[in-house]
Amino acid sequence: MKEFDIISIGGGSGGIATMNRAAMYGAKAAVIEADYLGGTCVNLGCVPKKIMWYGSQIAEAIQNYGPEYGFTSQEVTFDFSTLRKNREAYIERSRISYGNTFNKNGVEVINGFARFVDNQTVEVNGELIRAKHIVIATGARPDVPSIPGSELGIVSDDVFAWEELPSSVAVLGAGYIAVEMAGLLHGLGVQTDLFVRGNRPLRSFDTYIVEALMEEMNRTNLPLHTGKTSISLEKTQDGHIQIHFEDGSSHVAQQVLWAIGRKPNVDKLNLEATGVQLTPSGHIAVNEFQETGISGIYALGDVTGEKELTPVAIKAGRLLAERLFNNKPTAKMDYNTIPTVVFSHPAIGTVGLTEDEAISQYGKDNVKVYTSAFTSMYTALEKHRQMAKFKLVTAGENEQVVGLHGIGYGVDEMIQGFAVAIKMGATKEEFDAVVAIHPTGSEEFVTMR
Ligand code: FAD
Ligand code: NDP
Repeated sequence: MKEFDIISIGGGSGGIATMNRAAMYGAKAAVIEADYLGGTCVNLGCVPKKIMWYGSQIAEAIQNYGPEYGFTSQEVTFDFSTLRKNREAYIERSRISYGNTFNKNGVEVINGFARFVDNQTVEVNGELIRAKHIVIATGARPDVPSIPGSELGIVSDDVFAWEELPSSVAVLGAGYIAVEMAGLLHGLGVQTDLFVRGNRPLRSFDTYIVEALMEEMNRTNLPLHTGKTSISLEKTQDGHIQIHFEDGSSHVAQQVLWAIGRKPNVDKLNLEATGVQLTPSGHIAVNEFQETGISGIYALGDVTGEKELTPVAIKAGRLLAERLFNNKPTAKMDYNTIPTVVFSHPAIGTVGLTEDEAISQYGKDNVKVYTSAFTSMYTALEKHRQMAKFKLVTAGENEQVVGLHGIGYGVDEMIQGFAVAIKMGATKEEFDAVVAIHPTGSEEFVTMR
């Protein structure tokens, strides 16, 4: 039987980061991965998505902004297979680099699907593997609703398998994936419609910013349909898919993309052999130290359902390794004030509380909000003028900045540094004490009146 100090079930963002950090402190560590190293982010998430997002930005630059800056070209063609080939080659290089880092740190990679046998043993490909510490980092997979014909729809994983782009796509859902996929497919020339159940997408984001996104969808002719609850899907005679909605309306598209959330990969782990408990949503229940309550078994990343973001899984894993192998027993993940970007068109960046959240936390009288709206200079030359909107949410007499939100050109690269200031408790006065960088979008955050 193989024996380790620590193993990770899952070689995605969280599992890889945990094992590398543990091995750097001398632990005998192994990653068990059933599929491709890198997990969702590298193979079916952040990376292929961002490359396609860049592609759609380039399309926009060629079609809209190039001519406004005096660049014209007689023959611009788009070959999706080139984008796909180069995207996959990039991903393959990332996987190779994971292998190289494992070699350097002495982490063993075991290919196969792991199931628990007992609290310290898993079985992979018929072989038993034992470890003092077992980290469940099995991630999540796209959810599909149980309505008639739902199997006719595809999920985000399938988008990254396309050899060619479809002519039309209906996106059903209202979160990150729905908004990002709708934006990038529209940008790449696919007739795309976005259908949300409520009155807007990204309902947990600040209203001021989401309204700007909706205006921008309208300006760029990306149809957003609100109040649309799908009740069934059926195939049309020409092989398209018809979606029927609760309000009696219907819509036909070549592909229907479900983007309604993800469910944790827990069902085939044989957790019954361990006593590890699930939350009501089916995620693995953990405390603030990623402990499951069963000694020596931990869980982190998407499988715990806590902020499903790659850097969150990575940080939680590294901190776990610090606790277990670097004598830092109190090191733990802070799940508050996590910055995040939605790669919409244009990007949305946010950190901290929305205005509504701040009001419910501090009371209306203790919250002061600053906003700024302008046309991004990059887009301002002629007719394709794109709005940028920024917002600071402050709380208390000293106006501590508790929320920072933006939508617009370049916002995706603006937020990280401001997140440091907010994490340190910076006030509006301290923001204002910083000299602006001109001409940029980010200067708005230090010049709002
Ligand atoms: P995963 O990365 O999903 O890794 C889990 C791994 O475990 C998988 O490789 C799986 O094969 C393996 N596995 C499962 N069960 C077993 C088993 N029993 N035995 C062995 N192996 C097993 N986040 C961002 O921060 N920024 C983004 O821009 C972003 N974009 C995204 C776009 C899309 C389309 C999607 C779907 C997600 C995106 N995310 C993004 C979210 C991000 O991908 C996840 O939060 C992150 O991958 C979670 O890491 P993880 O380690 O928890 O799980
Ligand atoms: P999300 O949880 O972000 O959003 C799903 C939304 O879909 C729900 O909030 C809900 O919104 C709507 N919905 C739920 N069920 C249905 C249904 N049956 N029919 C129609 N709509 C429904 O899930 P995603 O799949 O978009 O993404 C999963 C996670 O992955 C994200 O939360 C994020 O953490 C991560 N991610 C991060 C990215 C990034 O960092 N840029 C990019 C992509 C993913 P409502 O209630 O308003 O209808």
